[in-house]
Amino acid sequence: MSIRSTIAVWAGKLTTKILKLAGKGATALPGKVVRNICPDILKYLAGDMKIICVTGTNGKTTTCHVIRDMIEAKGNTVFCNDAGANLLNGVVSAFVNAASWGGKINRDYAVVECDEAALKSIVQHFGDKDVTAVVTNLFRDQLDRYGDVRNTLSKIRAGLEQLPNVKLVLNADCSLTSSLSDVPHSELYYFGMNTPIYDDTTFNVEDAPNCIHCEEEYQYDYHTFGHLGGFYCGKCGYKRQPANVGLTKVIEWKSASSVVEMDVFGDTIEAEICLPGAYNLYNALAAITVAKLIDLPMEEIVSVLGKVTTHFGRMEQVQLGDANLTFALVKNPTGYNEVIRYLIRQNLDGNLVFGMNDNYADGTDLSWISDVEFERLAEYAKDVKNCYFTGKCVDDMQQRLESAGFDKEKFSVEKDYKTLFTKLQQSGQQSYLILSYTCMLEMRDKLAELVPLKKYES
Ligand SMILES: [Zn+2]
Repeated sequence: MSIRSTIAVWAGKLTTKILKLAGKGATALPGKVVRNICPDILKYLAGDMKIICVTGTNGKTTTCHVIRDMIEAKGNTVFCNDAGANLLNGVVSAFVNAASWGGKINRDYAVVECDEAALKSIVQHFGDKDVTAVVTNLFRDQLDRYGDVRNTLSKIRAGLEQLPNVKLVLNADCSLTSSLSDVPHSELYYFGMNTPIYDDTTFNVEDAPNCIHCEEEYQYDYHTFGHLGGFYCGKCGYKRQPANVGLTKVIEWKSASSVVEMDVFGDTIEAEICLPGAYNLYNALAAITVAKLIDLPMEEIVSVLGKVTTHFGRMEQVQLGDANLTFALVKNPTGYNEVIRYLIRQNLDGNLVFGMNDNYADGTDLSWISDVEFERLAEYAKDVKNCYFTGKCVDDMQQRLESAGFDKEKFSVEKDYKTLFTKLQQSGQQSYLILSYTCMLEMRDKLAELVPLKKYES
């Protein structure tokens, strides 16, 4: 540590303390203060920790969470920027908070969730360190912020190019993600599904219909969801690579977990993965790949998979009186469609709550809801008692669901969250709340006044 970097750490810690005393969240500002004093502070704070960066459109937080559990199962110490602060200032704040006043972080690993566009600014200071980079997938997301999905891909590429010795962990089934294999690296691993995981054949490849190298339309041996699956290009030969960690069979779907068979670096392994929904299987496979790279024994990996829990709206369950509330966070069409696939496997005879805001963090352009397969949900939601609408965009959501074939008689608008929770509690029924990011934050804040809730710290 230099004098400058030490002063920067002090400034950051003091800023955090002052913000907390003032009752304000301290996610980004301390990082900004620190960087003004010492722009390359991350280089100093990272020290000789091993770094695992996780980026991609969907699944970053859950993947980080499972990786952290894996590292702890090995008996190593780890810190994460688990406050959802995945832009540069947030990451710097997390590092400063984890550091002593002398600027030392006494942990073996840093697991860093990185926003796709911010990856480069974060990892540019890690060029000479031991870095593993996981790219979960790439889907169209909040178009108004990043533009085309290939533009996002090039931002990730620019980030990875800062890390000539990186160990790359890529989603084999995503033609966009997989194309990152040609950036300089020391080791390269793939995870993916070796088999279609759903019986039905509904899929939508429109985020990546054409070959990234030659623009020929992709062919598929099988689909999992979105544009993910066994893709290949008949013209230039670009194709899905064999997965080092590949799911070979779903033995049983349960409501909040699934029992699966996997090929893990050549060994056939059966495990129960305690995360709901198929999209979470991808997150688990990514985390298993990292766990193998850190030499966690297979029986420990299986043990962690059987114990992981979801958090912050990723199918989090909360008991409110006699009513069970299940929260699902939705950010883009692919994520929403996966939530719908989860829902149609449930017994939908209680309440559905659709909460949508169009604040910056939600994405201000709501047109993507036209791509969500509400028609599929409508088929399975005939026994639903009530459809509640909340948040800022109730009109758009009502129109969309009505056009999808939902029974309008069951619709009601309840913008007051507290009244809504009272209604859900009085029903005593299972309720599924499908919420955009800021709507989730607002509703959780209100719910925390009613029941003890794991605080989502900022
Ligand atoms: Zn091609």
